[in-house]
Amino acid sequence: MSRVYLQVALPVPLAQVFDYSIPASFSHTPHIGARIKVPFGKRELIGVIIGVTETPESPLDKIKPARQLIDEHSLFPPQLMQLLTWAAQYYHYPIGEVFSTALPTLLRQGEDLYDNPIHWRLTPVGLQITADTLSRSAKQQAAWQALEPHQSHGISEDFLKKVQIERATLQALAKKGFAEEFGQLAIQTGTPQLKYAESPLVANESQTTAIHAITEHLGQFKSFLLDGVTGSGKTEVYLQSIASCLANHQQALVLVPEIGLTPQTVARFRSRFAVEIVMLHSGLTDRERLRAWRRAYLGHAAIVIGTRSTLFTPMPHLGLIIVDEEHDLSFKQQDNFRYNARDLAILRAQLANCPVVLGSATPSLESLANAKTGRYQHLFLKERAANVSQPTIKLIDLRGQKLQAGLTSALKDAIATRLKKDEQVIIFLNRRGFAPVLLCHDCGWQAKCPRCDAKITLHRNPLRLHCHHCGFSQQPPNFCPECNSKELKAIGAGTVRVEEALQELFPKVPIHRIDRDSTQRKDSWHNLYADIENNKAAILVGTQMLAKGHHFPNVTLVALLEADSGLFGADFRASERVAQLITQVAGRAGRAHKAGLVLLQSHQPEHPLLQQLLSTGYQGFAELALAEREMIGMPPYGYLALVRAEAHYPEMALNFLTEAMSRGQVLDNAPEFWGPIPAPMEKKAGIFRAHLLLKSSQRRRLQQFLHRWLTIVNDLPEAKRLRWHIDVDPQELA
Ligand code: ADP
Ligand code: ZN
Ligand code: ZN
Repeated sequence: MSRVYLQVALPVPLAQVFDYSIPASFSHTPHIGARIKVPFGKRELIGVIIGVTETPESPLDKIKPARQLIDEHSLFPPQLMQLLTWAAQYYHYPIGEVFSTALPTLLRQGEDLYDNPIHWRLTPVGLQITADTLSRSAKQQAAWQALEPHQSHGISEDFLKKVQIERATLQALAKKGFAEEFGQLAIQTGTPQLKYAESPLVANESQTTAIHAITEHLGQFKSFLLDGVTGSGKTEVYLQSIASCLANHQQALVLVPEIGLTPQTVARFRSRFAVEIVMLHSGLTDRERLRAWRRAYLGHAAIVIGTRSTLFTPMPHLGLIIVDEEHDLSFKQQDNFRYNARDLAILRAQLANCPVVLGSATPSLESLANAKTGRYQHLFLKERAANVSQPTIKLIDLRGQKLQAGLTSALKDAIATRLKKDEQVIIFLNRRGFAPVLLCHDCGWQAKCPRCDAKITLHRNPLRLHCHHCGFSQQPPNFCPECNSKELKAIGAGTVRVEEALQELFPKVPIHRIDRDSTQRKDSWHNLYADIENNKAAILVGTQMLAKGHHFPNVTLVALLEADSGLFGADFRASERVAQLITQVAGRAGRAHKAGLVLLQSHQPEHPLLQQLLSTGYQGFAELALAEREMIGMPPYGYLALVRAEAHYPEMALNFLTEAMSRGQVLDNAPEFWGPIPAPMEKKAGIFRAHLLLKSSQRRRLQQFLHRWLTIVNDLPEAKRLRWHIDVDPQELA
C-alpha cells in the first residue's frame, strides 16, 4: 500500500489546508473529522483532519509527521464536513478557522471528547481473596471492601477519593495483582423516541395544513416558509412537526435569535416533550456547552435548541431543522466568519435530506422572494390562534406636542385607562440609558465620543458618558467645554428616563425596565415573569429585546415612542427593519382574550411606509418593498459583497479599496463596483473605515469573480498594511 498523508485544517488565517505524514507510532490511519495535534512553525496546533491523500501538494521532504491523534472517531458527520467546507469557500474565510468556530471551546483546546474518569475494579485474583487477606493494612482492606460489590462497572477514582480511598492505596493493591484501573466506559449512542409530557393542542385548520405539509416531507429535503402573524400558533406547528420527527427516531434542531432564547421558549418545549432537550447559547460555561454538544453528537439529545452557531452541532439522526424568527439579524455573524445561519440551514437540510422550516410573522424579503419562485413552499397562518383578534393600530402625531420624557398626553391617558382595568402596558423605545445626549442649552454643543463619529450616551447610576460604538467611557463635564456655560441638559428619552417619568405618573404600579443593562442579572427575567403572570396592572419599558417572541397575555396596550426613528437609515434595508420592528412590537398587544391597541408616536404620520403598514399590514408593505428592490436590482434580486477596510488614516483605507477595485474591473465577470466611500460612521474607536460594495445579478458569477479577485487583492502590498475583510451577503452596510 502506498503512503498516505493527512490534510489538516488549522486555526490560522490562511485559506489552505496543511499536509502531515502519519508517524509510525499511530496504529492506524486516523479518521477524517478527527482532531490531531501537529507541529506548526515553532508551535503546536490542534487541527481537524479533512482529507487523506497519496499525492500531497507540499514537497515530500517538507512534510512533517503529525504528533498526536486526539479522537478515535470523526467529530463531524460527512454532511457537516461538506457544509463547513462549502461555507469556508462561499464566505471566503479560512477553512481552519471555520472548523475551529464549529467546535466548542474546550474541544478547540484539545480537551477529551468524553468525560474520561479513571475507574478501578478488582482483578480476577483480587476477587478470589477475602478482606482478611489484607488485614495488615486497614487502608487496603477498606479499598477492597469498597470495590468488591461494584465489579461490573468499577468505581471512579474521583468517587473513591471522596470516601478517603487514596490512589496510593489502590496502586498498592494493583502491585499485589488484586486491583486494576481501566479507562473510558463504553460510549453509548442514542436514538430519540417520542415521549409526551402533555398532550398537544388541537391544531386549527391552517396549522393542520402546515403540519401535514412539513411532516409529509420528513426524510426528504424541502424548504418551507411558515408565514404566520404574531400569535398565530407557529410554535404549535413546530412542536407538532417535531413530534413526528421524534416518532421517526430522528433529532430536531431549532435555531432561535440571540434574544429569543428565553426561559419561556424552552419551557414550552420542555412541558410538551418528556425527551432530552439541550440548549446551546452564550450564557453557558465551556463545560456546560461541551456537555450539551456531546449529547447532541451521540444522538441522545432529541431536541437541540440554540442560537446561530448551534447550526454546526453534529447530530447523527438529524431529521428536521426549524429557524424561528428567520428575519432576525442575529442569524448573520457580524465579525470574523460572517456566515448566515439561516441560509446555511437550508444547505444543511439539503445535505441531511430533511425538511427545514423558516418561521416568522415578518419574513425577510429574501425568504418571501424564494417563496414566490416556489423554491420554498409558502405556508400561511393568517389568524391568531384561539380566536384572538389582531390589535388596532393608531398613529399619534408628535409635532407641536408637549412631551414628558417622550410621552404625549394622549399616550398618558391611554396608559391610565388600561392600568385602571388592571391590564398591562408595554412602552417601547430604541435607546438604553437615561438620555442619549448631553447638550449645552446656551451654545448647542453636544457631547461626542472622541474616538468615533458618534454622540456619546449619558447613563445614570453611576453618572457617566458611554460610547455604544466603541465602549469608551468618561465622567460628564460640569461646564460646557465650548462656552463654559453650566446649562448642560440631558435630551432625548432613554429607557431609564421613561421609567422614572412613568413611576412619577403611576407611583403604585410596578414598572419593569427591559434592556441589555437591566437583564444582565440572571434573575431579572424570572422576577419579571412572576410579576407579569399575576395579571395585575404593570408597565414594561424596553428596547427591542421586548419585540421578540415573548408571550404576555395581559398586555393590551403597546406604544412606540418614536415609530419613525430608523426610517431614514443609510442602509437600503432600513425600511424593511422598521416595518419588521413595528409589526413585531405591535404583536405583543392583546395576545389573550382582551382587545389590543397599538399607538405609534411619530413626527411624520403621513410617511408612506407607515401608511402602507397601517393599511395593508406587513404583507402589503413587503410586496411594495420587493417591487422596489427588483427595480434597483438589490437583494433579493441582486447579490452583494462588501469589502470593509480600516486604517489609521482616512486616505489609506480609500486608496487600498481604489487599488483593489481597479484590479477587479479588468477581470471577467466583474460585478458593479459602488464606491469606495467612507463608511457611514467613518471614524470608530480612532480608526478610519471605508467601504467598497460589489453587486452582481448572479450569485455564481459573483462567487467565481471573488475567488480570482481575492487572490489578487491578497497579494497587494497594501493588503498587509491595513485591516480589511470581505462580507458576502452583508446584512448591514455599516
Ligand atoms: P406564534 O409563535 O405564532 O407567535 P404561539 O405559538 O406563541 O404563536 O401561539 C400563541 C398562543 O396561541 C399561545 O398561547 C398558544 O398556546 C395558543 N395556541 C396556538 N395554537 C393553538 C391551538 N391550536 N388551539 C388553542 N390555542 C393555541
Ligand atoms: Zn456651550
Ligand atoms: Zn466611541
